[in-house]
Amino acid sequence: MRAIVFNGVGEVALEDRPTPEPGYKEVLIKTAAVGICGTDTHVLDGEFEGTVFPLVPGHEATGTIVALGEGVNDGVFDFQVGDHVAVNPSTTCGECEFCLNGQQNLCPDWNGLGVVASDGACQEMFVAPVRNVFKLKPETDLNEAALIEPLACSIRGWDLLPRKLGSHVLVYGAGTMGLMMAQLAPRMGAASVTIVDLNEDRLRVAAECGIEHRYTSADQADRTQWDVVIDATGSIPAIEDAVTRIKPGGTFQNFGVAPADETAKFSPFRVYRGELNFVGSMAVHNSFGRAVEMFEIGAINAEAMISHSFTLDDYSQALEKFRAGTGRKLQIRPNDSESKVLK
Ligand SMILES: [Zn+2]
Ligand SMILES: [Zn+2]
Repeated sequence: MRAIVFNGVGEVALEDRPTPEPGYKEVLIKTAAVGICGTDTHVLDGEFEGTVFPLVPGHEATGTIVALGEGVNDGVFDFQVGDHVAVNPSTTCGECEFCLNGQQNLCPDWNGLGVVASDGACQEMFVAPVRNVFKLKPETDLNEAALIEPLACSIRGWDLLPRKLGSHVLVYGAGTMGLMMAQLAPRMGAASVTIVDLNEDRLRVAAECGIEHRYTSADQADRTQWDVVIDATGSIPAIEDAVTRIKPGGTFQNFGVAPADETAKFSPFRVYRGELNFVGSMAVHNSFGRAVEMFEIGAINAEAMISHSFTLDDYSQALEKFRAGTGRKLQIRPNDSESKVLK
């Protein structure tokens, strides 16, 4: 079986490995599609806290169950070989203060398949704990469904934001995460949704996703303040601009991943005088099952958001393309024999 392996910082290899065996309450999955995101480059560049090399990357995955480990169906589950599934990559220690208080995504030993210390899905087959596996409808597009993991992060993001009919929402960044936050906004009560991105191509994708107001700068918009302002770029200049656009009483969310050692400037006086709220959002938290449902009712335009699929042989090419910032969502399809342009 072939697998992409990160052997150390900046070291990518395509290796032959024995097929993994599913252990107790684990399933073996034949991989369909794996989304690439900024986390993968952070992991490879050694910028992700706690990564243990060698590691098979890939945390946004779907596939078909090919084997069940012992005990899988002893409890509430009823999984069968042949089921189509999406996988929540997050696992936690289950014992710390945060885990025991229902804040598992804040666990200091938070582990993500393909991110920290367990192998991910950029291989022909991978193993996942059954509690992380979610069944899809047979008619759901198994490749597009690899967007469920980032959708689960977006639902977590909205779980932490105020939801009020008639609010005006501004999103920075029209990459996958920004597009998802913006597409969910009307369902959370937004009267208007505005998205800003320096890249005109991305604004065209935003148009296909039905996002009404699109600009390269918030200065071009017909309003100056918004009730909810979300940064989905992690870029310091974008964050500093975003903070100036929050309406008094409004909320700013740091949703994008900024570099860990950088700081941003804002006016503490405005936070005081305008009673501004600042909130973070970390990964998936009790949101994966809802993401499956929202995906399957068509809450996001998945077809518009994925542009290329790559084979395992072309993995490095996919990472290069991702780093260049061209294309839409890029996927690895480990069992495909050719890479494809989809959009
Ligand atoms: Zn991701
Ligand atoms: Zn814990």
